[in-house]
Amino acid sequence: MKHKYDDIDIEYIKNRINPRTGALKVALIYGLVVGVSLFFLNRFMVLALDDMKIGHKITLIKDEIFVTITMLILYMIVRRQMTLLKKSVDKVYDGYRELDIANRQLSATKELLKENFETLNQHQDEQIKLQERLWHQRNLSKSIINDVGAIILMWYPDGSMNIFNPFAEEITGYKASEVLGKRWIDILIPLEDREYMQSVFDRILESDFLRHENRIICKDGGMMDILWSNSILRDKDGNISEIISIGTDITERKEMEKRLHMMAYYDTLTGLPNRIMIEEKFDKLLSGHNDDGFRAAIMILDIDNFKNINETLGHNVGDMLLKNVANVLKKYIKSPNMLGRISGDGFIVVLNNMQNVTDIIGRVMDVQQYLKRTWYADGREIFVSTSVGIALYPDHGKDASILIKNASTAMFYVKERSKDDYAFYIKDMEKNAFERMEMLNMLCSAIEKGEFSLYYQPQVDIKTGKIVGAEALIRWTHSKRGAISPADFIPIAEQGGLIGKIDKWVIKEVFRQKKIWDKKGYKDVELSLNISAKTLMYGDLIEYIKSLIGCMDVTKDYICFEITETALLNDWETAILVINDLRSMGFKVALDDFGTGHSSLTYLKKLPIDVLKIDRQFINDIDESNDREGLISPYIIQMAHALKLKVVAEGVETPKQLKFLEDHGCDIGQGYIFSKPILPEKIEEMF
Ligand code: C2E
Ligand code: MG
Ligand code: MG
Repeated sequence: MKHKYDDIDIEYIKNRINPRTGALKVALIYGLVVGVSLFFLNRFMVLALDDMKIGHKITLIKDEIFVTITMLILYMIVRRQMTLLKKSVDKVYDGYRELDIANRQLSATKELLKENFETLNQHQDEQIKLQERLWHQRNLSKSIINDVGAIILMWYPDGSMNIFNPFAEEITGYKASEVLGKRWIDILIPLEDREYMQSVFDRILESDFLRHENRIICKDGGMMDILWSNSILRDKDGNISEIISIGTDITERKEMEKRLHMMAYYDTLTGLPNRIMIEEKFDKLLSGHNDDGFRAAIMILDIDNFKNINETLGHNVGDMLLKNVANVLKKYIKSPNMLGRISGDGFIVVLNNMQNVTDIIGRVMDVQQYLKRTWYADGREIFVSTSVGIALYPDHGKDASILIKNASTAMFYVKERSKDDYAFYIKDMEKNAFERMEMLNMLCSAIEKGEFSLYYQPQVDIKTGKIVGAEALIRWTHSKRGAISPADFIPIAEQGGLIGKIDKWVIKEVFRQKKIWDKKGYKDVELSLNISAKTLMYGDLIEYIKSLIGCMDVTKDYICFEITETALLNDWETAILVINDLRSMGFKVALDDFGTGHSSLTYLKKLPIDVLKIDRQFINDIDESNDREGLISPYIIQMAHALKLKVVAEGVETPKQLKFLEDHGCDIGQGYIFSKPILPEKIEEMF
């Protein structure tokens, strides 16, 4: 059975325990039980026991029983109280234990709380610092955006602007209030660039950082070149929140680039594209045509005698002429055809998609005819003709540089032959041009290297058979190439401007030889030497000869200058002046190769010469022809004699020729029948 105090309630116990009533209760119970027991026992003994002895004995037993009973009663009362106390103490003890544990937990919580509080304090400090830094950075960004010398735009992914800094206002002329909320493409990009800019716009959004250049249009319509750096700003979820575009004005740099481009690709004088530009453009054009039947013609057009114009009228006039020619060509050559200037007086024309040669010739002749007229530059009249070389694509080359090279070769070919004409490129021209270049280079140093020598060919009086003169003929022995014929190198030296130097060397050599032979007693041997037309016309020939005779005393009337007919035809007046100068100094002058040009009797009459040399071809005819009446040499001899000229027959090879010439009164003969040109020592033996 469960005792009523088992589930002891400390509250209940506290209320129940009252020391006074408790003790009184125990004393009363004890007094009641012991008093009642003693009362009944003592009555029983008085009634039942007469015998004192037995009574005494029973009293003893009664006391013992009494003590035992009271002891039991006491034991039970005290035990009950003690049990109650024990339970109370246990309960209190348990309460204390729980309280202790709770207390400890409380202490730990308190510690934790304290720690948390400290970290909280720390965080608060950090947050204050962070806020300060943020504030500083905001100020910094603000001052950068406001004061920096660069355009700063911030815009949303839809392109609308939310920051337009003061520098942007200054540069573009727009107020921020006018543009914020609007798309930058709509405000700053010129209409024609918008489609392209939309693609740039998309690229910006696709990459985290993008740099690009573009033009912007300002409020006043002015254009500027800007270099942009675009960076994407993202929110915490990684979505694009804004884009910041920083732009620097690169208009000046672009201008500079344009100027450099102009300098690199355009000719400054005429404003026409230069060779590099034409080559690049043409090659680009060709790359779009792969064996699709595309044909084109490249013309190199060179002004004839431009060097003379420059030298005689001055460079200003030359420049003006070039500009005028360029302007006329610009009007005539229209896109997609190309026009450029590739050298001093050389222009290039590219005719696209020309299918047949007849068309090309038509165009070339048109251009030449168009330019062939009297020009006026700086109040001067200038007559211009042009030489044109043409190379065809794909026949004469697969790229621009080869085609230009080949067209130039063809042009030089025209220059050398006739000028004022055109020629298509053919393979041999190149070979010739190369060889000519090579030979010209070798010629440059031939005099210094002592590679030239003079051979002499005797001239014989046909009647007496006596040697009356000798023609000096130059010989060139190149260290590697051996002997090179004057027929090969004289024309090259003439074109390359070296002939004057060579002719002067010959004159000096002949004068020296004449003096030697004079001293040896061959005074009456007349020495002839050849003078090129170029030397005669453009040089300082007379001054040179004067300076020579100043220090070398030669017998002038025994020296004869041979001049070819073609030389005279080019510039008759100048030729006559020089011939007169030579003759007035005492020299003789012979007209060489007579009959090869188109000279007529009338002009021969006016020519102040002493000797006429009949060209070898007429002498050759004497052997070849059966129709003796048809031979020309007798008429030439007659005519020359009528003009009181001495006649020399060139290239006499056979006795038949010699006999014929003798019969017709020719004065002197020169040719293999007497001797080939030989060394001076050899001819001395013949004298
Ligand atoms: P050229 O003045 O008419 O000289 C005559 C040429 O005919 C020489 O040729 C000579 O060797 C050649 N010849 C002479 N007799 C005969 C012959 O019987 N049969 C044949 N087949 N040929 C004969 P070369 O020496 O080769 O000279 C060629 C030309 O070169 C000369 O023609 C002259 O125009 C020019 N030349 C030669 N030496 C000089 C020079 O020192 N200065 C200049 N400017 N030209 C020169
Ligand atoms: Mg001659
Ligand atoms: Mg001759």
